[in-house]
Amino acid sequence: MKLGMMGLAGAVSPLKTRLYAAALGGASFGEDKTSLPKVRVLPERIIRTVAGLRPFRPSGFLVRADRIGGKVIVHNYGHGGCGVTLSWGTAQLSVDLAVKTQFRQAAVLGCGAVGLATARLLQDHGFRVTIYTKALPPDTTSNIAGALWGPVTLSDEDQRTPAFTEQFVRACRFAHRYFQTLVGDRYGVKWIAMYFLGNHAPGQSWESTVTPELYPATLLPAGTHPFNAQFVSRRYSMLIEPNTYLPAVLSDFYLRGGKLIVRNFQNLASVLKLPEPLIINCTGLGAKPLFRDEELVPIKGQLTVLVPQPEVDYGLVSTSSDLYMFPRRDGIILGGSHEEGEWSLEPSKSEGDRIFHGHQQLFSEMQARSAIPDHAHSDARGGAVSQLPA
Ligand SMILES: Cc1cc2nc3c(=O)[nH]c(=O)nc-3n(C[C@H](O)[C@H](O)[C@H](O)COP(=O)(O)OP(=O)(O)OC[C@H]3O[C@@H](n4cnc5c(N)ncnc54)[C@H](O)[C@@H]3O)c2cc1C
Repeated sequence: MKLGMMGLAGAVSPLKTRLYAAALGGASFGEDKTSLPKVRVLPERIIRTVAGLRPFRPSGFLVRADRIGGKVIVHNYGHGGCGVTLSWGTAQLSVDLAVKTQFRQAAVLGCGAVGLATARLLQDHGFRVTIYTKALPPDTTSNIAGALWGPVTLSDEDQRTPAFTEQFVRACRFAHRYFQTLVGDRYGVKWIAMYFLGNHAPGQSWESTVTPELYPATLLPAGTHPFNAQFVSRRYSMLIEPNTYLPAVLSDFYLRGGKLIVRNFQNLASVLKLPEPLIINCTGLGAKPLFRDEELVPIKGQLTVLVPQPEVDYGLVSTSSDLYMFPRRDGIILGGSHEEGEWSLEPSKSEGDRIFHGHQQLFSEMQARSAIPDHAHSDARGGAVSQLPA
């Protein structure tokens, strides 16, 4: 089984690492939290349990232009556990390909995070855009996402090509910068402190090797954090609230004259009948049957959502137990499940129990409102890593 959250610390091999461990290296943040409220993991606080399928390709996302039946088809799918994260980045890669054609009218297939970002950037580059989609927010996989900014569960190490790495680096940097312009209530994007807990010294990951500047982290010495874990590091990341973010981007798309048509394409022939000469394929897992991509495989993920706790303003990832908590306005998100090859959208009881009881234990072992001294930053820099789930 390939997991997306374990093995981060370089110690939980032989599982393939699909999360990044980001090297320390950037600026230390001046702001510090002096206390951390506990998440109240109680059965009566569960408000929903949901599951979704990450569109995973071992060789990574596909952004490529093909000529089929007189049309130019630009593929932009297969983002695994980080489609929200990379959406603006691979959208930009797709736009780079689109502007090389003579066409300025485009069809975007799909209305998840990737399709929406692509449609919006095409508009910004002067294209007239129609989105064709079988489902809209809130009924897309993108609505299920956590959604922490972090390029994880994206590819397998032995399948990555140098060309993919180059695309990945460009997409990551672009997306990281673009999301910063969306921070605020309108898009539901905010910066939060993330704590990474593990029982092994964290190691360096591919992601942090190729874009180290995106992951400045601080290793917190024992006694300076409230967690029951041998290794704890902290990094600041963006948290995106899909139920706010996706409708806001869709609304921007309409405001700029975009059109949307609900249509379920059964096969490639029906796609080729579209009037637009340029088609951007952002169908996620839907690309498997439509474009016969045998590489695409689902990695099922499940979330248990608790009643919102506005006082909880940090997130955490336990690398040793494959668990994570993100504090959103629409609820406390508990997750950490990765079932490769599983197509069912039914939440599983065993995964639900593992996520619930795992978090219950994690927070029961945490010291409430423990002080984190200021010197924790400066003392500990030098090799800390952080890891993300998705
Ligand atoms: C539990 C879980 C947690 C996650 N956490 C994170 C996270 O923290 N951060 C992160 O960045 N990502 C996360 N992800 C991954 C993220 O959800 C996906 O990578 C992302 O949603 C993919 O976006 P997309 O737009 O490609 O696909 P989708 O959101 O699935 O959108 C695809 C669109 O194509 C349409 N479509 C498909 N087939 C057809 C067809 N035949 N005809 C017409 N339309 C079609 C669909 O209706 C839909 O509108 C998580 C996923 C899960 C399941």
